[in-house]
Amino acid sequence: MCSQFNLSGKIALVTGSSRGLGLIMAAGLSQAGATVVLNGRHRDKLEAAELMRSEKPVHFSVFDVTVENQVQNAVKTIEATIGPIDILVNNAGINRRFALEKFPLKAWQEIINTNLMGAFLVSRAVVQGMIQRKSGKIINICSMQSELGRETISPYAASKGGLKMLTRGMATEWGRYHIQVNGLGPGYFKTEMTRKLWEDPEFDAWLCRRSPSGHWGNPDELIGPLIFLASDASSYVNGHILYVDGGLLASI
Ligand code: NDP
Repeated sequence: MCSQFNLSGKIALVTGSSRGLGLIMAAGLSQAGATVVLNGRHRDKLEAAELMRSEKPVHFSVFDVTVENQVQNAVKTIEATIGPIDILVNNAGINRRFALEKFPLKAWQEIINTNLMGAFLVSRAVVQGMIQRKSGKIINICSMQSELGRETISPYAASKGGLKMLTRGMATEWGRYHIQVNGLGPGYFKTEMTRKLWEDPEFDAWLCRRSPSGHWGNPDELIGPLIFLASDASSYVNGHILYVDGGLLASI
Protein backbone atom coordinates (compact mmCIF):
# COMPACT_ATOMS: atom_id res chain seq x y z
CA MET A 1 0.00 0.00 0.00
CA CYS A 2 1.24 3.53 -0.81
CA SER A 3 2.32 4.98 2.57
CA GLN A 4 0.04 8.00 2.15
CA PHE A 5 -2.97 5.68 2.60
CA ASN A 6 -1.55 3.78 5.57
CA LEU A 7 -3.55 4.24 8.77
CA SER A 8 -1.25 2.26 11.10
CA GLY A 9 -1.09 3.82 14.56
CA LYS A 10 -4.32 5.79 14.04
CA ILE A 11 -7.44 5.40 16.17
CA ALA A 12 -10.78 5.66 14.35
CA LEU A 13 -14.24 6.03 15.89
CA VAL A 14 -17.10 5.11 13.54
CA THR A 15 -20.54 5.99 14.89
CA GLY A 16 -23.47 3.72 14.06
CA SER A 17 -21.25 0.79 13.18
CA SER A 18 -22.99 -2.23 14.71
CA ARG A 19 -24.17 -3.15 11.19
CA GLY A 20 -24.58 -1.85 7.65
CA LEU A 21 -22.27 0.65 5.99
CA GLY A 22 -20.71 1.74 9.30
CA LEU A 23 -19.54 -1.78 10.09
CA ILE A 24 -18.13 -2.29 6.59
CA MET A 25 -16.33 1.06 6.67
CA ALA A 26 -14.91 0.21 10.11
CA ALA A 27 -13.59 -3.07 8.71
CA GLY A 28 -11.96 -1.14 5.84
CA LEU A 29 -10.26 1.28 8.24
CA SER A 30 -9.04 -1.67 10.29
CA GLN A 31 -7.60 -3.34 7.16
CA ALA A 32 -5.77 -0.10 6.36
CA GLY A 33 -4.08 -0.30 9.78
CA ALA A 34 -6.29 1.76 12.10
CA THR A 35 -7.41 0.66 15.56
CA VAL A 36 -11.17 0.84 15.30
CA VAL A 37 -13.83 1.76 17.86
CA LEU A 38 -17.34 0.65 16.89
CA ASN A 39 -20.44 2.41 18.23
CA GLY A 40 -24.18 1.92 18.49
CA ARG A 41 -26.90 2.10 21.12
CA HIS A 42 -27.03 -1.64 21.82
CA ARG A 43 -24.20 -3.55 23.48
CA ASP A 44 -25.51 -6.95 22.32
CA LYS A 45 -25.45 -5.91 18.64
CA LEU A 46 -21.91 -4.54 18.96
CA GLU A 47 -20.67 -7.66 20.75
CA ALA A 48 -22.20 -9.78 17.98
CA ALA A 49 -20.61 -7.77 15.13
CA GLU A 50 -18.36 -10.07 13.12
CA LEU A 51 -15.51 -7.54 13.16
CA MET A 52 -15.26 -8.06 16.95
CA ARG A 53 -13.84 -11.52 16.18
CA SER A 54 -11.07 -10.29 13.88
CA GLU A 55 -7.43 -10.90 14.80
CA LYS A 56 -6.71 -7.21 15.17
CA PRO A 57 -8.03 -5.63 18.37
CA VAL A 58 -11.35 -3.91 17.78
CA HIS A 59 -13.11 -1.91 20.51
CA PHE A 60 -16.64 -0.71 20.96
CA SER A 61 -18.34 2.09 22.86
CA VAL A 62 -22.08 2.06 23.57
CA PHE A 63 -23.65 5.50 23.32
CA ASP A 64 -26.46 7.37 21.65
CA VAL A 65 -25.14 10.15 19.40
CA THR A 66 -28.16 12.31 20.30
CA VAL A 67 -27.49 12.36 24.07
CA GLU A 68 -24.93 15.01 24.95
CA ASN A 69 -23.63 13.59 28.24
CA GLN A 70 -23.37 10.06 26.82
CA VAL A 71 -21.30 11.41 23.92
CA GLN A 72 -18.99 13.43 26.16
CA ASN A 73 -18.43 10.59 28.64
CA ALA A 74 -17.84 8.06 25.85
CA VAL A 75 -15.25 10.22 24.07
CA LYS A 76 -13.44 10.87 27.38
CA THR A 77 -13.38 7.15 28.17
CA ILE A 78 -12.18 6.14 24.69
CA GLU A 79 -9.35 8.71 24.80
CA ALA A 80 -8.33 7.69 28.35
CA THR A 81 -8.38 3.92 27.74
CA ILE A 82 -7.59 3.42 24.04
CA GLY A 83 -5.96 6.69 22.99
CA PRO A 84 -6.60 9.92 21.11
CA ILE A 85 -9.15 9.71 18.32
CA ASP A 86 -7.40 10.60 15.04
CA ILE A 87 -10.29 9.77 12.69
CA LEU A 88 -13.99 10.30 13.32
CA VAL A 89 -16.60 8.94 10.93
CA ASN A 90 -20.05 10.40 11.66
CA ASN A 91 -22.10 7.61 10.16
CA ALA A 92 -25.01 7.01 12.60
CA GLY A 93 -28.17 7.76 10.68
CA ILE A 94 -31.85 6.86 10.47
CA ASN A 95 -34.71 7.39 8.06
CA ARG A 96 -38.52 7.36 8.34
CA ARG A 97 -40.96 7.57 5.42
CA PHE A 98 -44.20 9.60 5.42
CA ALA A 99 -45.76 12.15 3.08
CA LEU A 100 -44.41 15.52 4.29
CA GLU A 101 -47.89 16.94 4.99
CA LYS A 102 -48.47 14.08 7.44
CA PHE A 103 -44.93 13.74 8.80
CA PRO A 104 -45.10 13.16 12.60
CA LEU A 105 -43.13 15.72 14.59
CA LYS A 106 -41.52 12.98 16.70
CA ALA A 107 -40.14 11.27 13.59
CA TRP A 108 -38.89 14.64 12.23
CA GLN A 109 -37.07 15.28 15.52
CA GLU A 110 -35.52 11.80 15.63
CA ILE A 111 -34.18 12.16 12.09
CA ILE A 112 -32.75 15.66 12.51
CA ASN A 113 -31.35 14.84 15.95
CA THR A 114 -29.62 11.65 14.83
CA ASN A 115 -28.37 12.62 11.38
CA LEU A 116 -27.46 16.27 12.01
CA MET A 117 -27.28 17.10 15.72
CA GLY A 118 -25.54 13.78 16.45
CA ALA A 119 -22.72 14.61 14.04
CA PHE A 120 -22.34 18.00 15.74
CA LEU A 121 -22.30 16.55 19.27
CA VAL A 122 -19.75 13.82 18.53
CA SER A 123 -17.54 16.14 16.46
CA ARG A 124 -17.61 18.82 19.16
CA ALA A 125 -16.47 16.27 21.75
CA VAL A 126 -13.75 14.72 19.56
CA VAL A 127 -12.41 17.95 18.06
CA GLN A 128 -11.19 19.24 21.44
CA GLY A 129 -8.28 16.78 21.36
CA MET A 130 -7.75 17.23 17.62
CA ILE A 131 -7.38 21.00 18.10
CA GLN A 132 -4.79 20.45 20.85
CA ARG A 133 -2.84 17.98 18.69
CA LYS A 134 -3.36 20.13 15.57
CA SER A 135 -4.32 17.14 13.50
CA GLY A 136 -7.41 15.10 12.71
CA LYS A 137 -9.82 13.78 10.12
CA ILE A 138 -13.61 13.99 10.31
CA ILE A 139 -15.74 12.30 7.67
CA ASN A 140 -19.48 12.98 7.67
CA ILE A 141 -21.60 10.37 5.92
CA CYS A 142 -23.87 12.41 3.69
CA SER A 143 -26.14 11.08 0.92
CA MET A 144 -27.39 11.86 -2.56
CA GLN A 145 -30.21 13.47 -0.55
CA SER A 146 -27.65 16.11 0.46
CA GLU A 147 -28.38 17.33 -3.10
CA LEU A 148 -31.73 15.89 -4.18
CA GLY A 149 -35.24 15.74 -2.80
CA ARG A 150 -37.28 12.54 -2.90
CA GLU A 151 -40.89 11.78 -2.00
CA THR A 152 -41.61 10.72 1.61
CA ILE A 153 -38.09 11.44 2.88
CA SER A 154 -37.95 15.25 2.99
CA PRO A 155 -36.77 15.42 6.63
CA TYR A 156 -33.99 12.94 5.80
CA ALA A 157 -32.99 15.15 2.84
CA ALA A 158 -33.11 18.21 5.12
CA SER A 159 -30.82 16.45 7.61
CA LYS A 160 -28.34 15.34 4.94
CA GLY A 161 -28.39 18.74 3.19
CA GLY A 162 -27.72 20.23 6.63
CA LEU A 163 -24.87 17.78 7.17
CA LYS A 164 -23.28 18.91 3.91
CA MET A 165 -23.31 22.51 5.15
CA LEU A 166 -22.14 21.45 8.62
CA THR A 167 -19.21 19.74 6.89
CA ARG A 168 -18.31 23.01 5.18
CA GLY A 169 -18.72 24.92 8.45
CA MET A 170 -16.45 22.50 10.31
CA ALA A 171 -13.87 22.67 7.52
CA THR A 172 -14.01 26.47 7.64
CA GLU A 173 -13.60 26.69 11.42
CA TRP A 174 -11.18 23.85 12.05
CA GLY A 175 -8.95 23.90 8.94
CA ARG A 176 -6.54 26.25 10.75
CA TYR A 177 -5.79 23.41 13.20
CA HIS A 178 -4.77 21.09 10.34
CA ILE A 179 -8.03 19.17 10.68
CA GLN A 180 -9.72 18.10 7.46
CA VAL A 181 -13.48 17.64 7.46
CA ASN A 182 -15.08 16.09 4.40
CA GLY A 183 -18.29 14.33 3.47
CA LEU A 184 -18.76 10.94 1.84
CA GLY A 185 -22.07 10.63 0.00
CA PRO A 186 -23.16 7.05 -0.75
CA GLY A 187 -25.64 6.36 -3.54
CA TYR A 188 -27.91 3.32 -3.07
CA PHE A 189 -26.52 0.40 -1.05
CA LYS A 190 -28.43 -2.64 0.22
CA THR A 191 -28.69 -2.36 4.01
CA GLU A 192 -31.49 -2.62 6.58
CA MET A 193 -32.17 1.09 6.01
CA THR A 194 -32.90 0.55 2.32
CA ARG A 195 -34.57 -2.90 2.65
CA LYS A 196 -37.98 -1.59 1.52
CA LEU A 197 -36.36 -0.29 -1.67
CA TRP A 198 -34.31 -3.33 -2.68
CA GLU A 199 -37.18 -5.69 -1.89
CA ASP A 200 -39.37 -3.73 -4.30
CA PRO A 201 -38.81 -5.08 -7.86
CA GLU A 202 -40.14 -1.85 -9.38
CA PHE A 203 -37.66 0.32 -7.47
CA ASP A 204 -34.83 -2.11 -8.18
CA ALA A 205 -35.55 -2.01 -11.94
CA TRP A 206 -35.89 1.80 -11.88
CA LEU A 207 -32.57 2.23 -10.07
CA CYS A 208 -30.66 -0.10 -12.36
CA ARG A 209 -32.07 1.73 -15.41
CA ARG A 210 -31.48 5.17 -13.92
CA SER A 211 -27.90 4.62 -12.72
CA PRO A 212 -25.01 4.96 -15.22
CA SER A 213 -23.35 2.05 -13.39
CA GLY A 214 -26.49 -0.10 -13.89
CA HIS A 215 -26.40 -1.59 -10.38
CA TRP A 216 -26.64 -1.02 -6.63
CA GLY A 217 -23.45 -0.05 -4.86
CA ASN A 218 -21.39 -2.78 -3.26
CA PRO A 219 -20.53 -1.53 0.27
CA ASP A 220 -16.86 -2.45 -0.30
CA GLU A 221 -16.84 0.30 -2.95
CA LEU A 222 -17.02 2.89 -0.16
CA ILE A 223 -13.79 1.76 1.44
CA GLY A 224 -11.24 3.23 -0.99
CA PRO A 225 -12.88 6.68 -0.96
CA LEU A 226 -13.18 6.53 2.85
CA ILE A 227 -9.51 5.62 3.30
CA PHE A 228 -8.56 8.48 0.98
CA LEU A 229 -10.51 10.94 3.18
CA ALA A 230 -9.19 9.39 6.42
CA SER A 231 -5.52 9.39 5.41
CA ASP A 232 -2.64 11.73 4.58
CA ALA A 233 -3.57 11.27 0.91
CA SER A 234 -6.27 13.93 1.38
CA SER A 235 -4.20 16.43 3.41
CA TYR A 236 -5.21 19.34 1.11
CA VAL A 237 -8.83 18.26 0.64
CA ASN A 238 -11.16 20.09 3.03
CA GLY A 239 -14.90 20.76 3.00
CA HIS A 240 -15.44 18.50 -0.01
CA ILE A 241 -18.32 16.05 -0.48
CA LEU A 242 -17.21 12.93 -2.33
CA TYR A 243 -20.23 11.15 -3.83
CA VAL A 244 -19.88 7.41 -4.36
CA ASP A 245 -23.04 6.83 -6.33
CA GLY A 246 -22.17 5.06 -9.57
CA GLY A 247 -22.72 8.36 -11.41
CA LEU A 248 -26.37 8.87 -10.38
CA LEU A 249 -25.91 12.53 -9.46
CA ALA A 250 -24.12 13.20 -12.74
CA SER A 251 -27.05 12.22 -14.92
CA ILE A 252 -30.78 12.82 -15.32
P1 NDP B 1 -28.36 0.91 9.08
O1 NDP B 1 -29.75 1.20 9.52
O2 NDP B 1 -28.04 -0.41 8.51
O3 NDP B 1 -27.35 1.17 10.32
C1 NDP B 1 -27.47 2.29 11.13
C2 NDP B 1 -26.50 2.18 12.29
O4 NDP B 1 -26.63 3.37 13.09
C3 NDP B 1 -26.78 1.00 13.21
O5 NDP B 1 -25.54 0.47 13.61
C4 NDP B 1 -27.50 1.64 14.41
O6 NDP B 1 -27.25 0.84 15.56
C5 NDP B 1 -26.80 3.00 14.46
N1 NDP B 1 -27.55 4.09 15.11
C6 NDP B 1 -28.80 4.53 14.79
N2 NDP B 1 -29.14 5.54 15.62
C7 NDP B 1 -28.09 5.75 16.45
C8 NDP B 1 -27.84 6.65 17.52
N3 NDP B 1 -28.76 7.56 17.91
N4 NDP B 1 -26.65 6.58 18.16
C9 NDP B 1 -25.71 5.68 17.78
N5 NDP B 1 -25.90 4.79 16.79
C10 NDP B 1 -27.08 4.82 16.14
O7 NDP B 1 -28.01 2.11 8.06
P2 NDP B 1 -26.97 2.18 6.83
O8 NDP B 1 -25.77 1.37 7.13
O9 NDP B 1 -27.72 1.98 5.59
O10 NDP B 1 -26.61 3.75 6.89
C11 NDP B 1 -25.43 4.25 7.50
C12 NDP B 1 -25.28 5.72 7.12
O11 NDP B 1 -25.16 5.82 5.70
C13 NDP B 1 -26.48 6.59 7.53
O12 NDP B 1 -26.03 7.86 7.93
C14 NDP B 1 -27.26 6.70 6.23
O13 NDP B 1 -28.03 7.87 6.18
C15 NDP B 1 -26.12 6.74 5.22
N6 NDP B 1 -26.51 6.37 3.87
C16 NDP B 1 -26.93 5.11 3.57
C17 NDP B 1 -27.26 4.79 2.27
C18 NDP B 1 -27.68 3.40 1.87
O14 NDP B 1 -27.96 3.19 0.67
N7 NDP B 1 -27.76 2.43 2.77
C19 NDP B 1 -27.22 5.79 1.19
C20 NDP B 1 -26.76 7.08 1.63
C21 NDP B 1 -26.41 7.35 2.92
P3 NDP B 1 -28.26 0.80 16.85
O15 NDP B 1 -29.65 0.79 16.28
O16 NDP B 1 -27.87 -0.43 17.57
O17 NDP B 1 -27.96 2.05 17.62
